[in-house]
Amino acid sequence: MRKIRKVYKLQYKRLIVLLGLVVMMLVGVIAGGVFIANQMTPEEKKPVAVYTKHTALRNEERQTAAQITDQYFPNGKKPPEPKVPIKTDRKIIALTFDDGPGNNSTQRILDSLEKHNVKATFFVLGSKVEQNPDMLKQIHDEGHEIGNHSYNHPDLTKLTHEEMMSQITNTNQLIKDNTGETPKYLRPPYGAFTPDIELSSGMTVILWNVDSNDWRLRDGPKTKDFVLQHLQPQSVILFHDIYESSADTVEHLIPALKEQGYEFVTMSEYLEIMGLD
Ligand SMILES: [Zn+2]
Repeated sequence: MRKIRKVYKLQYKRLIVLLGLVVMMLVGVIAGGVFIANQMTPEEKKPVAVYTKHTALRNEERQTAAQITDQYFPNGKKPPEPKVPIKTDRKIIALTFDDGPGNNSTQRILDSLEKHNVKATFFVLGSKVEQNPDMLKQIHDEGHEIGNHSYNHPDLTKLTHEEMMSQITNTNQLIKDNTGETPKYLRPPYGAFTPDIELSSGMTVILWNVDSNDWRLRDGPKTKDFVLQHLQPQSVILFHDIYESSADTVEHLIPALKEQGYEFVTMSEYLEIMGLD
């Protein structure tokens, strides 16, 4: 009897150890999952492409053109013809910077752009413009283009129509108050937008076709290599001017791209060259 109890006790101990191991493994897997999820922003999950006015209508990765036509242009009303990019041999790059204006990192990026004589496009947040109005003025005065990236970075598709519109119009007003110009371009946070956002704002939606992944890598040389590996002949590259590492990348990336024969353009020049303006 005592022997049986002993064996039973031993197995019980083993079971406890085994359960402990299983729990530890589960905790490890969950922690790993949470870590990976935190490393990914929704921007990574979005299809990578450039859209301009009404090109949402031919975005096959979202709704089909027919669905959008029924929803937004009922009773047989015809939507505007989407513009198709023209073919060009020109190797062009539009550098774009989101989520600022920041402080030191934005200043460093502006210094690099000036040093290499490159003009870029900044998609700014209204809330950051309120914090750094002088930086916005400097961006504008140094000849760069300024676009709207919402007031405080919500997913515009999850807001009511009124909330969405106030995100856009408040930011446009802040940009106008500080630069004298109303922006034409909208880069919706996470690249998330609907035809309603595009049509109601009256702005041209600009996404990107090269995500530098600077927000994930946070490393100057690694981000530079990543961009060089994912270049397209006509690239719109997504950066964030709020990271010091992105300033490191830009300083070294521009000469590398010039060496490969790329010319740098602003967003409006890009659209003009591509026949999308
Ligand atoms: Zn953003």
